[in-house]
Amino acid sequence: MSTYTTEKLHQALKHFFGYDQFRLSQLAIIENVLNGGDTLAIMPTGGGKSICYQLPAMLLPGVTIVISPLIALMKDQVDALVANGIHGAFLNSSQSQDEQSRIIKQAEAGVIKLLYIAPERIPANSEAFFNFLKKLNPSLFAIDEAHCISAWGHDFRPDYLKLAVLKEQFPNVPLVALTASADGVTQRDIVDRLKLHNGKTFISSFNRPNIHYYVQPKKNAFGHILEYLKKHKDDSGIIYALSRASTEDIAGRLHEAGIKAAHYHAGLDSAERSRVQDAFLRDEYKVIVATIAFGMGIDKSNVRFVIHHDVSKNVEGYYQETGRAGRDGLRSDAILFYSYGDIMKLKKFAEIEGNPQQTAISMKKLERMQEYCEDEGCRRQFLMEYFGESFPAYCGSCDYCLSSLEEKDATEDAQKFLSAVSRTGERYGATYIIDFLRGSASEKIQPQHKELKTYGIGKSLKKEEWQWMVQQLLRNKFIDKTDDQYATLKLNEKSWKILKGESQIKLVLKKEKAQIIDEEELAYDKGLMQELKSLRLDMADRENVPAYAIVADNSLVELATYLPHSFDELKQIAGFGDYKVGRYGAGFLDVVKRYAKEHKLEGKMHFKKAKPKSKPKEAASSISPSMRGTFQLFNEGLSIPEIVQQRNLALSTIEAHLAAFVGTGELDIYRVVPKNKLDEIVGAIKTSGQAYAAKPIKDMLGDDYSYGEIKMGLEYYRRVFGG
Ligand code: ADP
Ligand code: ZN
Repeated sequence: MSTYTTEKLHQALKHFFGYDQFRLSQLAIIENVLNGGDTLAIMPTGGGKSICYQLPAMLLPGVTIVISPLIALMKDQVDALVANGIHGAFLNSSQSQDEQSRIIKQAEAGVIKLLYIAPERIPANSEAFFNFLKKLNPSLFAIDEAHCISAWGHDFRPDYLKLAVLKEQFPNVPLVALTASADGVTQRDIVDRLKLHNGKTFISSFNRPNIHYYVQPKKNAFGHILEYLKKHKDDSGIIYALSRASTEDIAGRLHEAGIKAAHYHAGLDSAERSRVQDAFLRDEYKVIVATIAFGMGIDKSNVRFVIHHDVSKNVEGYYQETGRAGRDGLRSDAILFYSYGDIMKLKKFAEIEGNPQQTAISMKKLERMQEYCEDEGCRRQFLMEYFGESFPAYCGSCDYCLSSLEEKDATEDAQKFLSAVSRTGERYGATYIIDFLRGSASEKIQPQHKELKTYGIGKSLKKEEWQWMVQQLLRNKFIDKTDDQYATLKLNEKSWKILKGESQIKLVLKKEKAQIIDEEELAYDKGLMQELKSLRLDMADRENVPAYAIVADNSLVELATYLPHSFDELKQIAGFGDYKVGRYGAGFLDVVKRYAKEHKLEGKMHFKKAKPKSKPKEAASSISPSMRGTFQLFNEGLSIPEIVQQRNLALSTIEAHLAAFVGTGELDIYRVVPKNKLDEIVGAIKTSGQAYAAKPIKDMLGDDYSYGEIKMGLEYYRRVFGG
């Protein structure tokens, strides 16, 4: 059993990442991982999957291996870790052989806490893979974008199949698989292939409440986009288009209209791709027009809108693309321009030669995408139900829910429809039933059906009106549809209630369609926000990292809302962990204080909700330059006796120096105390009930344990379990 209390985990979250609360099922997942269990974590894009393995990685001794499919994403993740003072590194094909060997050496020496590996870097020969990993002695495996292992997912990558050996060869190392998109079949497939049968699955709500969904008919799409962009001048966003040529065309026209836009697609060379991406991350380009083939690499927390100029191939892809908006939790828009013509184009792409099974899967997914676009109902409900969650029929923040609506009693028409389904033997789909009701003369209608009383009783309604009826019946579960390619309609208990006149049905009619509305005003100081943004940009330039790696937008919004005046207050601002407070705090505080003084504003921290009382220990506060010197020699590969000799200091002094770095988390305890000894030391500390004095522990453990080891064990214990 893990001995990390919930409180300890909250402290660690604050300490390493600066967040006050866990999101969704992060806490449950982390507890399961730390208990040594295997985990399948399903969480929406932007939900915070990374923390689920990054936090355990910080608490577990040794290295965590992260498999992640995209090079660009990997670099971002590692940049963000380094910005939090965490030693991360990656191995992928963009690096030289020398660089890769250097990183492997560091990993073997135990310097690296998180090592990201691209799937194509995994040796195909499973024995070679095993030997490589064995040397690293990993304490956790994290498989990001785990749906890539399944042919049922929308992004199958054969390299992922190499991971099937992990559980066989490291049965005792916990494995956490993470994905944002897995329907039931894909989920089962991931569990099977990674052999997670003894693990737990955690499914978080896929709802992204801060994203507003709109579907617009595709008429003068460019004009509408331009109008929208002019209203959102200061915001960043992504526009997705189907072809490379159209990304270039759209970006060019936006540029002419004075918008800072660039295009991005897989046809650009890699230097140009990273140039565009970096410029976007730094807010030099406000808008990127990209193909849907690309995109996983765009990981920026303040994307305010995602516009689909063309429709996506499937709902998973669409949801993942829109999910790139609003990772910071602020209000964001997802706007899709729909035309049936786009579906026709995509149908051609869905055809996979020589693979009828895969073709059928793709076609089916495309049909669901079309349903989403043509659906007359709450967009969010559709999306949630697509991912297997039930959700009410009203969200209040999609184009449907924001339209003015009108209700009409439709029980009689519904009865006609349901009895037609019944009379024809519950063996047909909606199109057949509608044709039958409207008395179609087509030969497709069975001759014996033309004899039935219900044939032609629905002539008074138009085809679209019947389609609308079917949708509403399905949506409200007044009828069922089989899940196979025939989509046969079946009556259920609720259908019979309507047929027997025991229940009524009301249809909702839309009177006026909602417009894409303006962002609500936030109560932060706009002027201060501008100054904070430019300070952040300076910091980012100096360190050559993207702006959001310094701090995210929502941190700036909080700064400009609550005006913290001291380091203690700053620690209560989201995103300011100990490391960031130490590194950037003074700069931000200066700007806030000066601005507040000039504008006669007072601090408003008292409006901010009280935070958990326990304050994490100040990191690195008592580290002297001499201690750093010792640690540096140790990292250069010198042994402890060698350092004693070189520095001409006592063994106990050198050990005390290194122990301090165990305490800050910079030095992995396993590099100085073997695991079996550490377990004994931790056990003794628990038995003794105190975590400061080395003597009682030494008395308990005897001569096999040096004072140095015990002191390091104490530091480790206090960091992880609290003093
Ligand atoms: P995912 O991989 O699920 O798409 P990320 O792990 O990239 O999402 O997290 C999305 C954003 O949310 C990041 O900016 C991350 O720092 C932030 N985040 C994650 N967990 C929390 C939390 N508990 N509190 C506040 N922000 C969080
Ligand atoms: Zn809605």
